[in-house]
Amino acid sequence: MDDCVFCKIASGKIPAKKVYEDGLLVAFHDILPKAPVHVLVVPKIHITSANELHNLDDSLASHILKLLPKLAEMLEVSDSGYRVVVNCGENGGQSVDHLHFHLLGGRAMMWPPG
Ligand code: 5GP
Ligand code: ZN
Repeated sequence: MDDCVFCKIASGKIPAKKVYEDGLLVAFHDILPKAPVHVLVVPKIHITSANELHNLDDSLASHILKLLPKLAEMLEVSDSGYRVVVNCGENGGQSVDHLHFHLLGGRAMMWPPG
């Protein structure tokens, strides 16, 4: 989508501090990190939110899920622990309408989330 910031990052039109990229997805540091480690995992195809997960190929969904622990290891938060968050819609606090998975670590997380 032309006006989508994550599509632009995925296609390289705007820069991001990428930590991983392949043909299907890109992972990069959040511009306003909410934890010492805060990386976003973003499929390259434009999918609006978790409500549209049924439109994601099973192979891509599985690829994302299996990549998250690998990224955690790469970012050295596997042992200390981390949180994966998908905000969906207004009440979920979603601000960018392109499906993304937050990987947060490097500090203790609160529960329940605010
Ligand atoms: P959401 O609020 O939709 O769950 O998460 C969107 C995240 O994207 C926010 O944490 C926000 O800081 C991050 N973000 C928004 N615009 C940009 C950008 O241009 N570059 C990067 N790296 N992160 C962004
Ligand atoms: Zn997009």
